[in-house]
Parts: sequence; C-alpha cells; structure tokens
Amino acid sequence: MREHHKLLSPSSLPMLERCPCFESTPAGEAAERGTIQHSALEHLIKNFKLKPEKAEKASLKKFKLDSEEESQVRWAFRKVLELVEEHGLPVDDIRQERRVTVVNNKFDQLTYGYIDIDCRHILFDYKSGQQRDSEAQIMAYAAGVMQEGGIKNATAYILYGKDAYAQRYDFNIDQCMSRVEGIEKYVMNPDAKPLACEYCGWCKSHLTCPAVIKSMQIIGNTIDPKDVDGLLSIKPGKADAKTLGKMKILALIAGTWAKAVDAEARSRLMNGKKVVGWKGGYRKGKQFITDLNNAHQALVEDASYLSTEEFISCCSASVPKLAKAAQAALGVGEKKAREEIEGVLGDIVGRGAEIFYVTKEK
Ligand code: SF4
Repeated sequence: MREHHKLLSPSSLPMLERCPCFESTPAGEAAERGTIQHSALEHLIKNFKLKPEKAEKASLKKFKLDSEEESQVRWAFRKVLELVEEHGLPVDDIRQERRVTVVNNKFDQLTYGYIDIDCRHILFDYKSGQQRDSEAQIMAYAAGVMQEGGIKNATAYILYGKDAYAQRYDFNIDQCMSRVEGIEKYVMNPDAKPLACEYCGWCKSHLTCPAVIKSMQIIGNTIDPKDVDGLLSIKPGKADAKTLGKMKILALIAGTWAKAVDAEARSRLMNGKKVVGWKGGYRKGKQFITDLNNAHQALVEDASYLSTEEFISCCSASVPKLAKAAQAALGVGEKKAREEIEGVLGDIVGRGAEIFYVTKEK
C-alpha cells in the first residue's frame, strides 16, 4: 500500500488505474527527448506572445531537435493557436506550465501537476511518443482547471506530435472527480495487490514483481516449479509436443528475466559502475553516407566507378520513413501518410519475405 501523504502524479494515473502498485522508473532517453520538445514548444509560444510576427521563424537551434522533432513541435504550436482561435478565445490568455491541484470535498489534496498549455477553459497536453490511453491524466488536469476557475466544463486536447493528431475530450467536473477519486481509492486500498499489465515494462518492480512471473506462468499451462529441473534436462530436439510447449513457456519467462538483467548490467557498465566479470565499451558505429547527391556526383559522375543503376542498387528507401517525412507536408497522421505514399508509388512498393511468428494459443 502507498503512504497516504504521497500524492499521485497525473501522469501516473493511467498506469495506477491498471496496477495500483505501479511505480515509474527514472526517465529514459525517449522521455528526455520529450522534455526537450516540451521546452521547444514553450519557447515558440513565449516567442509568439512577445513578437507574434516572428514566432513562426523562431529559431529552435538551441534545443538541438532533429528535423522530425522540430516539425512535430511546430505542428503542435500551430495547432494550439488554431484551436484557441476556433474556441473564440484570446491568444493573450494562453498560459504555460501552470501548476494545478485537485482536492476532494474535504479539501484534501489528491494530486497536482503542471499543465503544458491552457487558455481559460481549454487545455493542451503535448505528447512526443506513441498514442496511449492518457485520459485519466488529462482528466486530472481538467479537474484542476475547473476547480481553480470555479467552472463546470472544460475541453482538453492531447496533441500527438508524431502523428500530427489532436485528440479532443469534453469533460464536466463530476466525471473528472469521480475518475480521479476512484483511482486514488483503488491505490490507497490497504489490500491493493499488483496486477500485471501493459505498463509492467516501465515499472520499477518488473524485475522482481511476483505478479509478472505469475502472469507468465498462467499463460496456458502453469509450470509447477518442481517440473522446471526436468524440463531443463531434456534436449529440445528430443522433447515431445506437450513438453516442448511447456519448455516454450519456461523460455518466455527466462527470456523476459534475461532481457531485464541484460538492460540493468548494460546501464550500470555504461554509467561506469561495476558488474563483476563483465566490462563494457564502444564499438565504432556502421558507416553511412550523409549526402546521397554528393556521393552520386563523386562516384558516378566524377570518378565513373559506378553506373547510376549500380549506385541506386546500393541505396534503399523505407516506406515508413518516407511516410514520416511526408507527414508534415500532408498534414495527416502516420497511418494516413503511409497510405498516401503507397497509393502514389503503387506497384513499385515491394515487400520483404514473409516472417514466421510464434504466439501463444488462446
Ligand atoms: S511490475 Fe508488478 S507492480 Fe509493476 S506494474 Fe507490473 S504488476 Fe504492477
């Protein structure tokens, strides 16, 4: 059970709703890139308020975003202005990174957090990653805005930069409070038990959590611990169908555990810590051509080492990458951009050999 004085953060609510014992791991690289994108978006909005005519040209160089990240941030910036205008609100009222708190009817604080952007009764949360269920988080922010303003309704948008997609939610205060209070009650329940879910990989306890091991064991036939030695002593090539099925479950458990151990050892060695009997180091990365036009000029046109056909046969273009690159120009999400690219390219889109997969029978 969680300590009562420990407040739940809005961003952890979607995870706590699935497992009341979830505790997040420290931010990884993706989360750090997300934080930088948030700062860049904040910079664009600040710039807009100071010098609206120069906002679009505002330099984001100091944030060291790659071109994809920069186009995501610029899309989010334009979307905020467009939506604020659509709601008939003055852009001067746009505020950023404001702390809001949510209290229950006894005025006990349930949660507090910082809203990316808000403007009177509308609020925005920018996401740099994949679309996920973040409704509980945005409901907590909306509850904070409504409590603060003494209003009953709010509109919230989650801005998914990667997909150039704004998801709209219209909430009233009762809906939001019942969701936030429900999660708080679930988490604070003295009998709360861990429940394996899709967020286990992000949880501090995933290496040792009994719920994870248990849930893996109950995929299909549970392996009795006393059977494990027997299974390990049989060569896979000699196993009958039933035994091989059980061995596969054991392999799944061992594989998950092995991945977690490997990640931990890697991270310690990268950070200069000791793992007895192991060392880490950097190998040179693969070489690649940074400028295809110049390479073609040098190898085909100037030196005549290769024909254009030979040069092209060494290059490849990935459909998902082309779709990502075209997303901003088309102003659509990743899936739609991919359909557009496939439609325009028609027959010249090829496919690799079929991949054989193995999954658990239901
Ligand atoms: S690892 Fe355990 S505590 Fe963490 S989310 Fe999964 S089930 Fe819950």
